Amino acid sequence: MSINDMLSVDISLRKGEYSSEESYLVSHLTGDKIEGLVTVRPHCDIRIDGLEVFFIGEERTTVQMGKVHRQFQNIKYDVDESGFPPMNKFKSKQRYRFKFDFEVRDHLPPEACTHAVASPVVRQAHLRPPPSFGDPTVSGLGGKLRDDYAPPTCRIVYTIQVNVLRNIPISDKKSVLMTRTLKLRVKPAIDATPPLDLMSSPNDYCLEQDHAVLDSRSKAPMGQLTVILDPPKSFCLPLRDPHSLVSSTVNMALRYETSEAHPELPQLQSFRGQLVATTFYTVTHHDDLPTKKKDFFNRPKNYSDTQFPPFSYSMASLDWVQVSHTMYETALLVPLTLPRLNFIPTFHTCLVSRIYALELRITVPGAAPFTLKAPVHIYAERDPSALPSYIAAVGFDSP
Ligand SMILES: [Zn+2]
Repeated sequence: MSINDMLSVDISLRKGEYSSEESYLVSHLTGDKIEGLVTVRPHCDIRIDGLEVFFIGEERTTVQMGKVHRQFQNIKYDVDESGFPPMNKFKSKQRYRFKFDFEVRDHLPPEACTHAVASPVVRQAHLRPPPSFGDPTVSGLGGKLRDDYAPPTCRIVYTIQVNVLRNIPISDKKSVLMTRTLKLRVKPAIDATPPLDLMSSPNDYCLEQDHAVLDSRSKAPMGQLTVILDPPKSFCLPLRDPHSLVSSTVNMALRYETSEAHPELPQLQSFRGQLVATTFYTVTHHDDLPTKKKDFFNRPKNYSDTQFPPFSYSMASLDWVQVSHTMYETALLVPLTLPRLNFIPTFHTCLVSRIYALELRITVPGAAPFTLKAPVHIYAERDPSALPSYIAAVGFDSP
C-alpha cells in the first residue's frame, strides 16, 4: 500500500480581505500575511510524528550548457503539534487541521546572496524578494491568467510545502513520509526610484542623437538637428487595482543649429515607439547589472527580448524658439500609457534580471531617422499600511 492510499494531505489558503469574485488568483504583496490550513485525513490508522510547513522561493534558469536551480527563501513555520492525537496515532476517517501563517517579507536573509558583487547596489537588489515569474499556472491579472512574457528559460516560483514526518527508530532523526506543495503568486513591492548605478548601465541605450538636415531638392546641408531624450519617469503598477491605466510621460528637447538667415525650421513627420522587456539569465550569478551578449551567429546568448505593441503619435507642429543667432530650441512632452498587459516590475536576482527600455523612432524630412532608447523603470506600489522596508529602516551597507 503506498502512502497516498493511507493518507491525504491538503493545503488551503485563507481568502484575504482583498480577494473578490474575480481575483481567484490572489497576489500576495509585501507585508501581506499568508494564512492557511493543512488538513490531514488518514484513510487508515497511521502514526505521524511531525509536520513541517515551509514558504519556499526558488528560481530556475536554463541555458544551452545546462540548467541551475536556486532556493533564495525557505522560511519554516513551527506547527502547533499540541493538536496531535495521543501517541501521534492519527485515526482513520478523521480530519486534523493545523494552521500556519507567513508574511511576505521585504528582504531576503543575507545568506540568499553571498557571491562577489561589483557594487553594494547589486547586493541590495539581489536581497529583495523577486516577483513570481514565468509560471503560467499562477500568472494573472484581474482574475485572468495572462502571459507574463517570461522566456521559457526562466522561472521564479513560490510554494507552500508541507512535509509529513515519521521518527526513524533508534535515532533522533525524522524521515519524510509525504510532501505536498501549493504554488502561490507573490508580487512584492519594488521601489519607485531605481538605483542610479543600475540605470546607467551600458545596455545599448541612446539618449541623444544628431543628424544633418538636408534640403529636399538640392541635398545641400541646411542645419544640424539634435534630439535629447530624458529617461521617462517610472511607471507605477497599482497595488490592487488591475484595471487602472498606468501612465508616464517622456520629455524631449530638440535643438537646431543653422547658419541660414531665414531658415525653414524642421518639423516631425512621424513619431513611433515601443516598450521592450529584456530578461537576462545565467547559470552562475550576476555580479553586476547584466549586459547583452551574443553568440558567434549574433543570436542572444544570455537574454531574451519581448517587444510590446508599438504606438504612434501624430504631433502638432513644433514651436521653435530662437535662443541665439544660429540656435533654435523646442521641447516635446509625450504621454505614454502601458498596454493592458501583465507587466512584471523591474527586478534583479542572482540568476535573473528583468529590465525595460523605451525605443523611439522619430522621422524628420531631410534627415536620417532618429532612433533613441532609454531605460524605463516599472515599480510595484507599496502598501502604506505594510511594515516599513527593512532596508530603508536599518540602512544597508553590506559590501
Ligand atoms: Zn546575488
